[in-house]
Amino acid sequence: MHVDASRPIAPADQDAIRKRNDEPSPPASHDPNPKPRVPLLALRSITRTYRLPGSEPVPVLRGVELHVGAGEFLALMGPSGSGKTTLLQIIGCLDRPDGGSYHFSGDEVSALSDDALSRIRGARIGFVFQFFNLIPQMGVIDNVALPLLYLGISSSERRRRAIHALERVGLGHRLGHRPTQLSGGEQQRCAIARALVAEPPLLVGDEPTGNLDSKTGAQIMELLHELHRGGLTIVLVTHDAEVGSQAQRLVKMRDGRIDGTAE
Ligand code: ADP
Ligand code: MG
Repeated sequence: MHVDASRPIAPADQDAIRKRNDEPSPPASHDPNPKPRVPLLALRSITRTYRLPGSEPVPVLRGVELHVGAGEFLALMGPSGSGKTTLLQIIGCLDRPDGGSYHFSGDEVSALSDDALSRIRGARIGFVFQFFNLIPQMGVIDNVALPLLYLGISSSERRRRAIHALERVGLGHRLGHRPTQLSGGEQQRCAIARALVAEPPLLVGDEPTGNLDSKTGAQIMELLHELHRGGLTIVLVTHDAEVGSQAQRLVKMRDGRIDGTAE
């Protein structure tokens, strides 16, 4: 198992990684137009209310302030119903806020069209879920290669990259399997390979260890740590305090807001 260190990192991300590592920045006097440091994710005053016909509107996010630097590993915890999944879906561009602003790599995304959001999802965000969400009728390689189909990549190249991603998560010996022939931990590794196959800068996970026993969950966390060390930014929702405590930064949600400071 290895992490692809050759994955390109955008200049803004490199800047943020340098900041995180407290490395000295080049003196400002050498650059007449220094670029402002841009966090990978900047959410300001994010609100989201579910409105179902015939029932009272449910305000779920009530002004979320959250900045995530490139290369951070952040865990989001909070009681059931506090809005974690709703927030993660907005972060993952699966849903839009009703109010506030969301900048991804410096670009405002909260008002983008469905097509534009799906392009961002396809190229820049990997998703991991509690129940893996693999397609049982397809083999492991085809499951992992699927996100590349929407990026217009040739069949042979999709296959090559899928195998590389599977090797990267330690599934190089399961290439001929179907998801149902894998253990839970292997299924989650396969889902992580699928999330990474397009080499996105951001991985988001909603309770990715929630359906695994504690030993297997710890192995999945170890894999995520290894990917994080390779430069990946990770935002995880979890209600497992053990998982949350392993993240670089733990953010707590309560009643649709971030509890305490957002930085
Ligand atoms: P968490 O992940 O922290 O448990 P969620 O974001 O899933 O919280 O849900 C927060 C609240 O929003 C809950 O009260 C839930 O019932 C409600 N909710 C979530 N999704 C929807 C939806 N699609 N339509 C209506 N209400 C929803
Ligand atoms: Mg949830």
